[in-house]
Amino acid sequence: MNKKISFSIWYVFLAIWAVILVHDLIHALQKIEELPYSEFRQLVVAGKVAEVAVGSHTLTGTLKPEGDAKEPKLFSTIRVEDQDLVRELNQHGVKFVGVIETTFWRDVLSWILPAAIFGAIWYFFIRRLGQTQGGFMQVGQSKAKIYAETDIKITFADVAGVDEAKEELREVIEFLKTPEKFTRLGGKIPKGILLVGPPGTGKTLLARAVAGEAGVTFFSISGSEFVEMFVGVGAARVRDLFEQAKLKAPCIIFIDELDALGKARGMGPMAHEEREQTLNQLLVEMDGFDPRIGVILMAATNRPEILDPALLRAGRFDRHVVVDRPDKIGRLAILLVHAKQVPLGPDADLENIAAMTPGFSGADLANIINEAALLAVRRGKDLVGISELQEAVERVIAGLEKKNRVLNKMEKERVAYHETGHALVAISLPGSDQVQKISIIPRGVAALGYTLQLPTEDRFLMTKSELENKIAVLLGGRIAEEMIFGEASTGAQNDLVKTTDIAKSMVKAYGMSERLGTITLERERQPQFVQIPVASEKGDYSEETAREIDCEVRRIIDEQYERVTQLLEQRKAALVEGARVLLEREVISGSELRAIMDTH
Ligand code: ADP
Ligand code: MG
Ligand code: ZN
Repeated sequence: MNKKISFSIWYVFLAIWAVILVHDLIHALQKIEELPYSEFRQLVVAGKVAEVAVGSHTLTGTLKPEGDAKEPKLFSTIRVEDQDLVRELNQHGVKFVGVIETTFWRDVLSWILPAAIFGAIWYFFIRRLGQTQGGFMQVGQSKAKIYAETDIKITFADVAGVDEAKEELREVIEFLKTPEKFTRLGGKIPKGILLVGPPGTGKTLLARAVAGEAGVTFFSISGSEFVEMFVGVGAARVRDLFEQAKLKAPCIIFIDELDALGKARGMGPMAHEEREQTLNQLLVEMDGFDPRIGVILMAATNRPEILDPALLRAGRFDRHVVVDRPDKIGRLAILLVHAKQVPLGPDADLENIAAMTPGFSGADLANIINEAALLAVRRGKDLVGISELQEAVERVIAGLEKKNRVLNKMEKERVAYHETGHALVAISLPGSDQVQKISIIPRGVAALGYTLQLPTEDRFLMTKSELENKIAVLLGGRIAEEMIFGEASTGAQNDLVKTTDIAKSMVKAYGMSERLGTITLERERQPQFVQIPVASEKGDYSEETAREIDCEVRRIIDEQYERVTQLLEQRKAALVEGARVLLEREVISGSELRAIMDTH
């Protein structure tokens, strides 16, 4: 909003400036010299005036050409009550006429023109506002925001690794293609289908592919777009959306990011009036339409747990299709889909890349192929090879290398010990993710160095000791710093955050503390698809228990702290040597570090 205001002020200044310019220009073009009356009289007496037109307010006229000038000079002056003027003019042989002055053109220039300019700018400004805001001038009409695509080329062949979801959606496609077949037998058609899954797994893509496969119109709108400037606009939009869709049946209505709109009513610090109205309207429309006319409602969300329960009731979004992160075979399939568009070299082993990337979403994988292709171009290659693909994986994990961020020598040394500490602990503890690479080239926004650990397989469960090992690896960096430099630095903050989160979850969510027992103290709506445990609000327990939780969390971390300190003390020689090599080379591989550990 602020931007808009300063934008319009800018235009006002521009307009004023334009008006001034126009005035000056008119005068300059006519080359009229404005004279004081006294000077005019002197010129008359001196016989230099040729003609005068006497108006009611002004006198205008021409001077006799002087020297070689051919053009007579124009002048004007204010008319003053002057009894002698006519006599003087006669006396000096000046031709004069009386004119009735019309101020018409002057009025046009000085009033109407600026007004017109203002008007034009205002009109232009409003039109822009109307375009960007979608509804400033046309509240209730949503045509600008509802996207209706009739000829979608995306098919199921473009969506890979989500076979179960595709299987479930086949029926919908069947129905949209031949609604008669279903209604004849009185079959029940799903009304609302909710695609649920983490970000980037292809929910939006899948919805469009359903429309593409069935060859029907695809109406889409994003939940976040409903949140509007004026109360009532969102609700009007929903009405509009359904009306349009009914005219175009068979078709699909797709509401992306349903959670932006469908948050449980009354949740959050400020119950959002507008959102609630829109949501209510959506519920009304959903109840009011009969799917037999061939309209299927689809929606996508990555936070199903915050949706208003009313949305999920029978007859509304009652069919849930889970679109999860792909497994290894799925990842390979997705990589193959996206690799169709880039020329791969003979050594580009996509299976290898699929194995390296547990937990990646479809969007991440698409990103890897894209990054790899860009890298190949930058290196002047014709084909994308395995080295580009591997580098692309690292980029997607860790952000871009920032070679230009300069650390001073002390900082660099610290980072080297820190990362070697992480890596040494990870290598020493059985069952930790394999260390692939250690680097002290700054990457991303905050990372000064990093230890690249990749899981060797997809994991769905973690044991208590594995969680403890994770904490140990995270602590390794800080403890190495303390051992070598005698004090900690700020570089370990992110590690500590993760450590604390894991320990808290162990105690509160997974019942892994003997002292508190096998009990879960966390029950509120946990995001289902967020991998890192989030620190949640205080659950339903006493102050006493809260204190105990804190003690247990501290105990778990302290135990691991002890353990890692001992481990690194034993391996100090390897730590020092590893950090030295890392400082020298900036990047070393996991196997190189293992070799150093074996010799020291
Ligand atoms: P979501 O809506 O689940 O957040 P999108 O559908 O917007 O994810 O996916 C973003 C992009 O990632 C897609 O345009 C596509 O290029 C790629 N992508 C994601 N999942 C898949 C998949 N299963 N198969 C192929 N490409 C995918
Ligand atoms: Mg999406
Ligand atoms: Zn660290």
